[in-house]
Parts: sequence; C-alpha cells; structure tokens
Amino acid sequence: MYTVSFTEADRPETDRPAAPRRAALVDGFGREITYVRLSITDRCDLRCVYCMAEDMTFLPRNELLSIEELAQVGKTFTELGVHKLRITGGEPLIRRGVIELMEQLGQLPGLRSLCLTTNATHLARYAQALHDAGVDRINISLDSLDPERFRRLTRFGDVQQVLEGIRAAQRVGFSRIKLNCVALKHFNADEVPELVRFALDEGLDISFIEEMPLGRIDDHGRAAEFVSSAELRSLIEQQFPLVPVDDNSGGPARYWRSGSHGSRIGFISPHSQNFCSSCNRVRVTAVGRLLLCLGQENSVDLRAPLRASPDDPAPLREAIIAAMANKPLQHDFNLAEEPQILRFMNTTGG
Ligand code: SAM
Ligand code: SF4
Repeated sequence: MYTVSFTEADRPETDRPAAPRRAALVDGFGREITYVRLSITDRCDLRCVYCMAEDMTFLPRNELLSIEELAQVGKTFTELGVHKLRITGGEPLIRRGVIELMEQLGQLPGLRSLCLTTNATHLARYAQALHDAGVDRINISLDSLDPERFRRLTRFGDVQQVLEGIRAAQRVGFSRIKLNCVALKHFNADEVPELVRFALDEGLDISFIEEMPLGRIDDHGRAAEFVSSAELRSLIEQQFPLVPVDDNSGGPARYWRSGSHGSRIGFISPHSQNFCSSCNRVRVTAVGRLLLCLGQENSVDLRAPLRASPDDPAPLREAIIAAMANKPLQHDFNLAEEPQILRFMNTTGG
C-alpha cells in the first residue's frame, strides 16, 4: 500500500543544498521511491547489438510526451519527494527541445541531482548548454575504444565522436562522469581491463553491466554472451588490484577502487547479484507509461491523466501515488528463456 511518510534527507547526491522534507512515495514493500528515470525518446542514432534489433520501428512522434508534458511529469514527481531525475532514452540528445527541458528541470525546487545518460555522439555540441542548465552527472555508454569493434557493437557508430564528447564534458566542468559498458563474452569482454585503464587515466568512474534480456535480439544469443561481474572483476584484478568501496550509495552497482585513483569501478549484476530489495526507482517511458520495474511488465499510463487535465496536476499526482502499490518485489530475469520482457531497453529508458 502507498503511504505518506516524512523522511530525513538521504546522502546528498551533489553540492546542492538538501531539499526541504517532502512527502515520500513508498511502495507496498516499504521502499521509498526517490529516483525517476525519464525517457524522452525511443529513437537513437546508434543500434547497439544488445539494446536494439537492427531494423526497428519507432513510436510515432505524436505519441511522445511533449517537452512541456515531460517537464510537468518531472515537477510532479519532485513534489512527491523524488530528488533525483535521470534523462535517458533512446538517445536523449537527439530529441528536439532537450536543452529547454533540462533548463526547466534544473530549476525544480527539491531536485538534488539532474543526470543524463547518453551515447555521447552529440555531447561535444551540447556539453556547455547541459552544464549551464544544471545537469550534475553524465553517464556515457562506451563498450569499446577500438574503432572497428565499436562500429560492430553499435552497428555503425564512430568512437571518435564519443571520445570528443567525453573531452567536451570534462572541459566544461563536469566532474561526475561515468562510463557504462555492457560486457559481452565474444565482443568486448577481453577489452575490459583496457577500458578500466582509460577510466583511471581520465579520472572517470566506470560500470560494467550484465546484459539484460529486454526485447528479442536475433544476431547474438544473450546466454552465450553472458559474462558475470565476478569474472570481469577477476580479469581486472590481474592488472588493477581492487578494494571494495564501503558506500555503495544504495543503487544497483557495487563499487571498487584501484590504488590511489579517484575513479570508482562498478558492477551492475542483475543476474548474479540481485539488487531489488533496495530499489528506489521507477521509470517513465517517452509516451508517459510509468514502469514500476525494469524486469516486469507492471505499468500505469500517466499520459491520459496528464492530457485529460493539463492545467490541474492533481489527476497525474493521484495516478502516480496509486501506482506505487503495483511495484513488484523484484525482477525475474532468466537468460535461458529469453525474452521475458518484450520491450527493448530503448523503450524502457535505460
Ligand atoms: N542512448 C543512451 C546510452 O546509450 O547511454 C541512453 C539509453 S541506453 C538504453 C541506457 C543504458 O542501457 C546504456 O548504458 C546501455 O548500455 C544500457 N543497455 C541497453 N540495452 C541493455 C541490455 N539489454 N542490457 C543491459 N544494459 C543495456
Ligand atoms: Fe542507442 Fe543507447 Fe540503445 Fe545504444 S544503448 S542503441 S546508444 S539507446
């Protein structure tokens, strides 16, 4: 059941002052929901092999929430105690109006962290505007430093654009940049130590993610490509001794450090180490569907209440509050019976 409670502020995400205490969203298992991932498009300029089929049909544009509606969703969630928003997709930087949206979200009272997940192909162009808008953290997907491999993994991407995006983000002053790497046994697992070296040299965090069975992919078997976080860790430790970080900040990643480097090396292990008991997040798709779990189908339409009364936020608010009772206890990924979840990561909002 949904309850209203008042909580102490969590560990600050950023240097922003702690938000005033607010009513909190609490699900049926007592978990507080303080983090929303908001997808602003399902489209992308790449086709990463684990994320999308090569031939994708994207949503008609008129079905997407408008920039104003996306801002309203962000505002309503923050009024309900959410203090961290991550803008994602698809590729968020190809959505027209993304900077305007960031500027609006960056002003929200109560928001302590505004984050972006991007493939960085357009980051060089937008880094300054994103920084000015108040984005605190950027996660950048990077699965290989090798141009040919990168192209194969993304089907036609240019790694140089990503590297330029990273440099631009560093130059304009982003201090919290994290690389995300989905490790696949026969594509890039052997390159993991080199990716760690790059992250350490550049002062970036890096997380390795076990591939999740979201959507049907025909060109590789997900079970055959599976490589566990433990395997990756021992591969990394052959070159970089790792020490666990005590403070894991409540998210799904488990972090380690190497030597005196400031970078954190994380592992997100949906298969080998379930993290659902501390889940604090929900997702909203680009068409306004509230997904209560990454790995389950439970969802609620927010677009209908949003459009039914654009000038009255109460129905949207009530729909969000009522949805909390439907948040499942945990995901049930099983690589042997893929796919259990038919939506791709780009429609889910990774
Ligand atoms: N386009 C942006 C990007 O690539 O960073 C944002 C959206 S993307 C869906 C978000 C994250 O989901 C990326 O880090 C990507 O590597 C990850 N991802 C996509 N499909 C995945 C899958 N099947 N399993 C695990 N992670 C996946
Ligand atoms: Fe695009 Fe990101 Fe999916 Fe790659 S992971 S296809 S960059 S949405």
